[in-house]
Amino acid sequence: MNIDDYKFAGKKAIVRVDFNVPLDENGNITDDTRIRGALPTLKKILADGGSLIIMSHMGKPKGKVNPKFSLAQIKDAVANALGTDVKFAPDCANAAEAAASLKPGEVLLLENLRFYPEEEGKPVGIDKADPAYEAAKKEMKERQKEFAKTLASYADVYVNDAFGTAHRKHASTAVIADYFDKEDKMLGYLMEKEVKAVDNILSDIKRPFTAIMGGSKVSTKIGIIENLMDKVDNLILCGGMTYTFAKAMGGNVGDSICETDKLDLALDIMKKAKEKGVNLVLGTDCIAGNAFSNDADTQICSVKEIPEGWEGMDAGPESRKLFAAAITPAKTILWNGPAGVFEFDNFTGGSRAIADAIVEATNNGAFSLVGGGDSVACVNKFGLADQVSYVSTGGGALLEAIEGKILPGVAAVK
Ligand code: AMP
Repeated sequence: MNIDDYKFAGKKAIVRVDFNVPLDENGNITDDTRIRGALPTLKKILADGGSLIIMSHMGKPKGKVNPKFSLAQIKDAVANALGTDVKFAPDCANAAEAAASLKPGEVLLLENLRFYPEEEGKPVGIDKADPAYEAAKKEMKERQKEFAKTLASYADVYVNDAFGTAHRKHASTAVIADYFDKEDKMLGYLMEKEVKAVDNILSDIKRPFTAIMGGSKVSTKIGIIENLMDKVDNLILCGGMTYTFAKAMGGNVGDSICETDKLDLALDIMKKAKEKGVNLVLGTDCIAGNAFSNDADTQICSVKEIPEGWEGMDAGPESRKLFAAAITPAKTILWNGPAGVFEFDNFTGGSRAIADAIVEATNNGAFSLVGGGDSVACVNKFGLADQVSYVSTGGGALLEAIEGKILPGVAAVK
């Protein structure tokens, strides 16, 4: 079912959102992007005359009640954002009465789903190596179904708008959908937008297509790098990965972050890029620091000649030019992961150069997708989020979707 075609009037809608927002030590929200992201869906249901049961996880309470991760902390912020009162159900698995009493236009927020291990469906307190693990896993899967069935019993219709967890087959993101008819389950607007943005990158490719992968390690990005190799014209690998490649090519990387057990992998990526005709762009110079600190002394050096006691912290001027040259003419752009330790203001230059080039290409008609926690933090830090085509709310989900994997959260309602 399509959300625009559904008549929510008089219906109770249970909506899975991703309200896993960052909180400071006093429980104040430091970034409400995720709440704002879900508003179009939530407001649409209320405006139609439906009532809302909102469910989400927060943090990693590992199947136990933990006030630190209570959604009660964000109830008022949700109420403010929606412009209406929000009731709170302190136990998500015992909220039948509260749900049943909801009138059209009313809102109920359920307590953190992950206070129950059934949400994630993984057995707790038992090691994978334990011979009893398989039986425990099977039992937990059954309990997960019961938990999902309970959640489903609160509502007439299920909407999944939590892209951030769409790559997980959890009770509230996927299993619950089994308890609704095809006509009574659907994606929310945020999910639809995210899925469309990935589709733009994967199937509707305007060339040249340039992907920029940064961040700290090759090992966590290898799946997506391999998948992209079949699609892109230019592949920029930057950030901490740079030094694994530099070392693999025989360079001295000093104290830079470097995965010494991934040198063969780096060489293999270079070989594959050549075979597939992909223009692999690696940084040639870097800003090295003599400490992992914003106030470190710095020097510009070749990524292959970094002195002992120094570490590559950001892309150097020559690298930035190489990156920009591969980005500005592009018509499709994907950016995941910063080019340096952008959290330190003195090492944002490489990431900034990438962001500026993406904005320029976007102004020239490119479709640009920025996604995955840290690159989103980057464009936000530079105030450029509204100058790229799409900023994804998904980290792992986005990467898995781009790897070509079917997301369980999407498959469950489709
Ligand atoms: P990831 O989670 O793998 O996308 O990595 C993001 C992190 O990579 C950010 O916290 C950056 O500070 C870090 N990073 C980027 N470049 C470097 C570098 N040259 N050395 C150490 N960390 C880096």
